[in-house]
Amino acid sequence: MKILVVAEKKDEAIRRVSLEIAAKAATLGETEVVAVTGARYSPIAWSGAVAEKAKASGAQLVLVGATLNGRDLAARAAAKLGWAYAADCTDLVPKDGAAEARRPMYAGKVRATVKVPLPAVVSIRPGSWALPAGASAPKLTEIAPGPEDARLSFERFEATASGGKRVSLAEARAIVSAGRGMKGPENWKLVEELADVLGAATGASRAVTDAGWRPNEEQVGQTGKTVTPDLYVALGISGAIQHLAGMTSSKVIVAVNKDPDADIFKIADYGVVGDLFEFVPAFTEAVKKVKGNG
Ligand SMILES: Cc1cc2nc3c(=O)[nH]c(=O)nc-3n(C[C@H](O)[C@H](O)[C@H](O)COP(=O)(O)OP(=O)(O)OC[C@H]3O[C@@H](n4cnc5c(N)ncnc54)[C@H](O)[C@@H]3O)c2cc1C
Repeated sequence: MKILVVAEKKDEAIRRVSLEIAAKAATLGETEVVAVTGARYSPIAWSGAVAEKAKASGAQLVLVGATLNGRDLAARAAAKLGWAYAADCTDLVPKDGAAEARRPMYAGKVRATVKVPLPAVVSIRPGSWALPAGASAPKLTEIAPGPEDARLSFERFEATASGGKRVSLAEARAIVSAGRGMKGPENWKLVEELADVLGAATGASRAVTDAGWRPNEEQVGQTGKTVTPDLYVALGISGAIQHLAGMTSSKVIVAVNKDPDADIFKIADYGVVGDLFEFVPAFTEAVKKVKGNG
């Protein structure tokens, strides 16, 4: 089966999710990895280019990372091609001339297996497929963007203030996320110190972003970001269904909450019932020692 992987780049480097998809796709069929030339995503021009390339290459399957831009691109390319589309999948197995995809539904309450007739476009959540250790970067074919729509014009790009030293939430392999249990923004030093020793990104519940304690880009959940890290640490987060919708696919979940009946414990792999203000500094010190920094 011919598979077209559409890679995304950030600062000229291929994003991790694209490397994950390319590595897996190579085990599923004959794979070509393409990237649209140009640093700035353009919905019309990029989806046009991907649809043309998919047709010309004879691909049966187009795989795209389910990132903010990737989800938009994949849906538009599928519509242009008139192909089936499965969004935000966590696994995919070619079977009997179709693709069997796994995807969370109903805000993460169920995991559905859907049969997608080929040809199809499928977007894959970051972190769903492990990147084999030492995997080499795939050979990349650059494709030119298609024609723009004359009614659209690019005005400016404004980087967010939080786009600083930490890895982006969507691609982080470890996330330390915190909720209203932190009591106020002045206590975030605790979250950041733990995140730094774990090499993690920082996330937040909506209660926190709504209160203006943290920027909106950090919000995890149904109306925030969907994340699939190897480790998700939830500090003072109750575990409302809307929060869980964005993080239940995390591989290992650690929850710290003083309420033993908090819903977060229902999905946690490791639970600490206690006061986060006592636990977190001690835990950070312990991790530092294990890593040889303390
Ligand atoms: C349409 C809709 C969409 C939504 N989308 C999202 C979303 O995308 N993301 C999201 O997060 N929410 C979302 N919400 C809000 C969601 O329902 C919850 O209100 C929110 O997740 C609660 O945030 P929290 O867990 O930080 O706060 P709380 O529910 O107030 O929980 C705070 C927790 O901290 C614990 N705690 C307090 N003090 C300590 C301490 N000292 N040590 C340890 N633990 C402590 C408490 O026991 C409690 O469990 C949405 C709601 C709606 C209606």
